[in-house]
Amino acid sequence: MLIVQKFGGSSVADAAKIKRVAGVIADTYLEGNDVVVVLSAQGDTTDDLLAKAAEINRNPSKRELDMLLATGEQISISLMAMALESMGLPAVSLTGWQAGFKTNSDYGNARILEVTAERVRSELDKRRIVLIAGFQGINKYDDITTLGRGGSDTSAVAVAAVLRADKCQIYTDVEGVYTADPRKVEGAVKLDEITYDEMLELASLGAQVLHNRSVMMAKKYSIELEVLSSYVRKPGTKVKEVAKNVEQMKISGIAKDNNVARIAVVGVPDEPGAAFKVFRALSNAHISVDIILQSLGKNHTNDISFTVTENDSDAAVAALEQAKDSIGFEHVSVDNHVSKVSIVGAGMMTSSGIATLMFEALYEASINIQMISTSEIKVSVLVAEDDADLAVRTIHNKFFK
Ligand code: ADP
Ligand code: ASP
Ligand code: MG
Repeated sequence: MLIVQKFGGSSVADAAKIKRVAGVIADTYLEGNDVVVVLSAQGDTTDDLLAKAAEINRNPSKRELDMLLATGEQISISLMAMALESMGLPAVSLTGWQAGFKTNSDYGNARILEVTAERVRSELDKRRIVLIAGFQGINKYDDITTLGRGGSDTSAVAVAAVLRADKCQIYTDVEGVYTADPRKVEGAVKLDEITYDEMLELASLGAQVLHNRSVMMAKKYSIELEVLSSYVRKPGTKVKEVAKNVEQMKISGIAKDNNVARIAVVGVPDEPGAAFKVFRALSNAHISVDIILQSLGKNHTNDISFTVTENDSDAAVAALEQAKDSIGFEHVSVDNHVSKVSIVGAGMMTSSGIATLMFEALYEASINIQMISTSEIKVSVLVAEDDADLAVRTIHNKFFK
């Protein structure tokens, strides 16, 4: 079998952990499998590198930032190769470039265009364990790029797709995918299986356990993923097209996202074209908008509120102020202290009253809902950031107790 294994930052945080992970890799190899391993930077290395950059330049170019960030993963692969060497096993470490990860030029958030993987194949032919630096690639200018925070998961799925691997295992510091973040919510339940669509929603709505683009890619190429623990050897969670839902759960999970800002455009004329002008100003500035709410304002005007990521909030306000005369609003206000809390479940399509249960839980905890948005398989609410953890716990209790 050809097996791709990805180990996250906490799993390779220090020498002892690297040796332990080397043991997992060695066992897989010695069972007769071909093994490709994708690694993240050790522990908080990526955050530390960002802090180092900020000491020198508050606004460095994205190209140089990627050059810096990509070093973290290189430390991990070389140390892991040394650990395997010391066990007498043949291993070779490869950067994203050596492994053939071609990306576009969106530094800091690059997309994988192609993985050529010739070197990976030739090393596998020599029966070597191949260790690839996750999170990085190279663009058409031969510059190093990175895939966005948490992007090593996507590196692993991409290489599994190209090599047509039999398995893609994502090893992390929890035992699988849970109904809520098991570190924050007591009583969170581990799922045996979850569908791509549900996992994609959870990942996109703030459950950091998998990078959302890794799930998109796994769905596209029908790669079954398994999320499992680096520390405890037992089955984790399978992410696949159709999942069995043994306990007849109404929802499969709850996620929270703090990286949200709410912007209110107050006093927009109540006339055709008003919303168009507001959102045209934002799309011209390449700002993606999430939840939108239009409500009646004073004196025949409307208030249009929407959410963006916190990093986009300053740019959104600037774009609106610039278009103020053509839109004709009164003023813009921003609130960065909000969070989005979401429930996700394929069962929502067929079962009524699920949103009501969520709202009831929030009511019982006296938490005010600022905005609501729904799709076939999710309901999201915007709440004050200070209420968000309580909101997750109380909704979890409602559905899982
Ligand atoms: P890695 O370094 O292995 O990539 P991450 O920190 O990116 O690990 O992701 C694992 C973390 O995701 C867990 O420690 C957990 O706190 C968090 N998490 C958030 N939501 C969930 C969830 N629904 N199920 C499991 N873990 C979750
Ligand atoms: N090291 C990178 C990060 O911290 C990528 C990853 O861990 O997946 O975001
Ligand atoms: Mg991760």
